[in-house]
Amino acid sequence: MSSDADIPRTDKRASKIARRIEADIVRRGWPVGESLGSEQALQQRFCVSRSVLREAVRLVEHHQVARMRRGPSGGLLVCEPDAGPATRAVVIYLEYLGTTLGDLLNARLVLEPLAAALAAEHIDETGIEALRAVLRAEEQWHPGMPAPREEFHVALAERSKNPVLQLFIDVLMRLTKRYAFESRTASENEAIEAVDQMHHAHSDIVAAVTAGDSARARTLTERHVQAVTAWLQEHQDGADATARVRGPRRARLEIDAPRGKLAEVLAVTISDDIAASGWHVGSVFGTEAALLERYRVSRSVLREAVRLLEYHTIARMRRGPGGGLIVTQPQAQASIDTIALYLQYRKPSREDLRRVRDAIEIDNVARVVRRRSEPEVAAFLQPNLQPNRPAPTQATARATDDLRKAAVEEFRFHVGLSQLAGNSLLELFLRIIVELFRRHWSSSGQALPTWSDVVAVEHAHERILEAISIGDDSLARYRVRRHLDAAASWWL
Ligand SMILES: [Zn+2]
Ligand SMILES: [Zn+2]
Repeated sequence: MSSDADIPRTDKRASKIARRIEADIVRRGWPVGESLGSEQALQQRFCVSRSVLREAVRLVEHHQVARMRRGPSGGLLVCEPDAGPATRAVVIYLEYLGTTLGDLLNARLVLEPLAAALAAEHIDETGIEALRAVLRAEEQWHPGMPAPREEFHVALAERSKNPVLQLFIDVLMRLTKRYAFESRTASENEAIEAVDQMHHAHSDIVAAVTAGDSARARTLTERHVQAVTAWLQEHQDGADATARVRGPRRARLEIDAPRGKLAEVLAVTISDDIAASGWHVGSVFGTEAALLERYRVSRSVLREAVRLLEYHTIARMRRGPGGGLIVTQPQAQASIDTIALYLQYRKPSREDLRRVRDAIEIDNVARVVRRRSEPEVAAFLQPNLQPNRPAPTQATARATDDLRKAAVEEFRFHVGLSQLAGNSLLELFLRIIVELFRRHWSSSGQALPTWSDVVAVEHAHERILEAISIGDDSLARYRVRRHLDAAASWWL
């Protein structure tokens, strides 16, 4: 084996330039097929060496934002991304966090009934046909075939015409699938019965959606997701709702293989294997030689996969004796960035973002009310214990700087509540939405809020905290809803 000294680390400059290229594509309105310039031109524009630029291009290609076409008429071409890299990044991160079945089902209960209600509002002939096609496929099912569970839910979410909701539900269904994989195999009769009941529930939901009855579609979906919940919990191998969702042990490289290159597939496989081995941060997952042997790939493919793992902070290659691929602690930011970028391509409206945010935040506050006597919640409810809380003073004299601080405080309040609510999935989703608002806000050059906006926001927060501390669930929900509706909260 050659020395590890020549293994390049993911270059910070490269990821910075990748960001700039991506921001540029977003700014231009994502012109699919257009060239951003030749390798040489880009190298000059960003004043970097060819190797750094190539590294940046690899990251951009990994996000499926653009790809380099070589040759005389070549250049960096803008592509049409798919949701694959974004959902995979999130699923891997959530697996690392050890999302529980309870969190997963709760998140489904928050988002899926909303998707069904929106689907009923937006349904058209094409949509009706698509949903009915899924139902027909379910009728073809017979024992021995894999149970058709997730397709319907993904198809229904698609009909909501809300790209944010669609992507989040896609993530939830992928996690559910992984969970179901580990479930004890039901007896044949049990399986027939389960599929039959499921099909009935799906048919009823499609009928309500087709008829445009959004209230009924919402209720039926809620009931169905609850039934699925009960079924999954019952069939979970001696586990309860606090069991962690982990990637199933399965044949390599088959399920969920990204359409991209071998390095991408390999990076996903290594992530799965790291998760399956218990994610021991700091341990050596394998030396380069051992990994080459184990995965039977070329050195260049392995190194490219390692760069992706480094980018997502899943693992990094350490040089020298005792070195190898070291398991690291994944950070939320890489998956938030990846998914936010993809959603920028899908161009959700403000309304799309708000619908999902409202559903998550209203559920959050209800859960915080239930947990109000726990020490961390109690501490949050004490205004004096909150850091950086600006004292409410009279308006006009406050500087822009204070307004920025107030915006940070607004962010802290909502993300803080979401942390206290204790569902890592919904917390991550909310942070993605906040990131999208932030990107939208900074690109649209919106004016700063006035000081009276800030005062109104502070007041609203206090009133929410007050309702939580007296345990008034419905009032807390009402106040959150009002606060989110108010123009004053436009920066989130
Ligand atoms: Zn179902
Ligand atoms: Zn607020």
